[in-house]
Amino acid sequence: MTTDTNIRQFPGAEIPEQTLSVEKKYPSFCQHEKITLDDHSRTVRCVACGQVMDPFNFLLYEVSRLQDAWERNRQVRKDTSVLIDRVETLKKEEARLKARIKTAKAKVEPAFSVRSREL
Ligand SMILES: [Zn+2]
Repeated sequence: MTTDTNIRQFPGAEIPEQTLSVEKKYPSFCQHEKITLDDHSRTVRCVACGQVMDPFNFLLYEVSRLQDAWERNRQVRKDTSVLIDRVETLKKEEARLKARIKTAKAKVEPAFSVRSREL
C-alpha cells in the first residue's frame, strides 16, 4: 500500500521559471512613413511608432528609393516623348485623310449637283 508521501518528483524534471521575454515595442505593420531627425541625440526616429533606426540604413534606403524614383521618372519621360511623336504622326495622317476626303467630295459633288439640276 503506497501513500502520496512516498511519491516524489524525479529530480530535474521541473520546468524552469521563464525569465526571458521579448519586448514587442513596435507594431509590425508600421511603414515608418513619417520620420524625424533629432539633431541633439543624432538619431533617426519614426514619428508613428518611435522606432529608432540606424542612420546609415535609413540613408541607404532613401537613396535607393530616390534612385528608383528618378529611373521611373526618366522612363515616363521617354514613354511620353514616344507618345507625343505618335500623336503628331496621327494628327498629320488625320489632316492628310481629311484633305483627301475633301478632294474626293469636291470631285463627286459638282457632277452630282449638275446632274440633279438637269433632272
Ligand atoms: Zn514606424
